[in-house]
Amino acid sequence: METDDRVSVLLVDDQDENLLALETVLAGPGLKLVKASSGIQALKCLLDEDFAVALLDVRMPDIDGFETAALMRERDRSRNTPIIFITALSTAETHVSRGYSLGAVDYIFKPIVPEVLRAKVQVFAELFRKTRQVERLNESLRQRTRELEAANRDLESFSYSVSHDLRAPLRAIAGFADIISRRYRDALSEEARHYFDNIVEASERMGQLIEDLLAYARLGRQALRRRRVSLYELIAQIAADLAPRLAETGGQVSLSPNLPTVHGDPTLLGEIFTNLIGNALTYSRPGVPPQVSVTCEVGLDWVTVQVRDNGIGIPPEHQERIFEVFQRLQSESSHPGTGIGLAIARKSAAMMDGRVWVQSVVGEGSTFSVTLPRHAREMILAAREGREPWTDRVASS
Ligand code: ADP
Repeated sequence: METDDRVSVLLVDDQDENLLALETVLAGPGLKLVKASSGIQALKCLLDEDFAVALLDVRMPDIDGFETAALMRERDRSRNTPIIFITALSTAETHVSRGYSLGAVDYIFKPIVPEVLRAKVQVFAELFRKTRQVERLNESLRQRTRELEAANRDLESFSYSVSHDLRAPLRAIAGFADIISRRYRDALSEEARHYFDNIVEASERMGQLIEDLLAYARLGRQALRRRRVSLYELIAQIAADLAPRLAETGGQVSLSPNLPTVHGDPTLLGEIFTNLIGNALTYSRPGVPPQVSVTCEVGLDWVTVQVRDNGIGIPPEHQERIFEVFQRLQSESSHPGTGIGLAIARKSAAMMDGRVWVQSVVGEGSTFSVTLPRHAREMILAAREGREPWTDRVASS
């Protein structure tokens, strides 16, 4: 964090009395005035400091104001530093056009009018202050993002190890309860048998919750493996795998033939669409066979895939919350589930720089949309470089 909030102004003139005059006019609390008596000295000053503006006398021995400006423009640090040339009015015509071609921002003509000089310098000083504020703000935002990412990673590894460590004792509980309820079944009263069955059932359910939580936590730990993936083939395969459930419910899944190829992780893409299509079948209206259609809108660099169903719909106040871990709207008895599928879908999409959201009308159905980058840029780059796109070089990016 900088403690000196003044902005620096560079004054360049070979005549001491001129420098003194500039200094007298500009002296004030907000400006730090740095004096240089030659172009070379000015360039040295520009090496270790950022200036709001440089005032350059045009006529100087050795290298003059214009040559100094040309050298400033060649260096990164001073490439964009605003320059005000100080020149005699008589020779203005030729000077003015030469100065502008060097990116001069302004001129001050001799004899100097103090108010004009002060006003012009203040404009650049203010601009510099504002830019510096924006940069500091951006830096603190970047810092905050880094902190949040680190906190997120900690939380992920915490939930990973907790769920991992819960597995063994849970397995013991389930195992022993199962042994008692089977081996000593005859010795148990009807009531005791019922309780033991409940223990076994609850521990199975808890086991499923832990497995799902582990799957969710594991997502953030594995490296992204981007490949060329045909969404049509991927989703057709998922629909084929769901054939038994479709037969059971009388449901149908229709796919738009223009589902494109994307550059993504096949496992994550599989997670997203397995969950969305599975849900579309699960949350159907009683007595209404589920109709699921998968369509898309294809942009140059993006594709949005919509999974639309004719199911029970989701009330507006719950449409965000369902993407959080363990958030469910139906009872376990009517619709078994753990409430992790949509959290996995959202996180998987985010890992590929995409997103998932829902639009829904209760009693009519829901449309879940997945936007994914297509990496058109990679294709353009690959074409320009004469190589195959979707290489591992990109996969590791
Ligand atoms: P699960 O299905 O295991 O409960 P999800 O995270 O996949 O977990 O879904 C969270 C909740 O969102 C579901 O319990 C359900 O209430 C609601 N939901 C998800 N998909 C749909 C859908 N297609 N139609 C209506 N409700 C849905």
